[in-house]
Amino acid sequence: MTTTHVDAKKPRSLCFEDAPTTVMAWACGSCATVYPMRSYPNAYEIARTCCNPVCTKCDGETAQGNALCAACRKNAEATKEAVRFERARKIPLDDYQGDYLNFEDATFDVDALDDAQSDRVKRNEEPMTYAWACAPEEASFDVVSSVADMLEEEHPQGSDADVDYNLLDAAQILVDKAIDKVVSHRSRSDIAVLLPPFEAGAPSAGHDAAGGSGT
Ligand SMILES: [Zn+2]
Ligand SMILES: [Zn+2]
Repeated sequence: MTTTHVDAKKPRSLCFEDAPTTVMAWACGSCATVYPMRSYPNAYEIARTCCNPVCTKCDGETAQGNALCAACRKNAEATKEAVRFERARKIPLDDYQGDYLNFEDATFDVDALDDAQSDRVKRNEEPMTYAWACAPEEASFDVVSSVADMLEEEHPQGSDADVDYNLLDAAQILVDKAIDKVVSHRSRSDIAVLLPPFEAGAPSAGHDAAGGSGT
């Protein structure tokens, strides 16, 4: 066996003998701790970084389970965001009909834009020049398919024959009613809302002028 790096012991894949192409788990190449795929969706990275937490890009230190260190991850996200912005349709804030905006995983009310900008400045971050449009998304929950999934996982032997589907239909009506008012605002990657320049140093005296006639 040839290894260039003493530390860089690669993770080993573990399969059942009768299914040699299906990886069931990854084991750390150094200490042999096993990470099953079922419990760890990123089992490979966890095994790879178990005893040797090294970034795949810069060889710097990373956290267990992470391919990239914090700096490289930030870079990768910035690149992804730039591509997303490049492709998006850009509209000025004045033309935006929605009530919410999203930036860096935070969703805020359009009326609270100034607050969101000041918060960024307080954290020594650049004010936003754009934010992502959001679309309202109503909550939904499919009772029949959720029960079907549960049966399939936990009671696979034809147990659906014993299910009272009329009751499930009745339950669906109640569930719909129960979550009727739940609406979230999900960012859409196809519309970027261009924001007016934010005066970082400006005193927020006109703060209570939420009507928008600030300046
Ligand atoms: Zn290990
Ligand atoms: Zn790195």
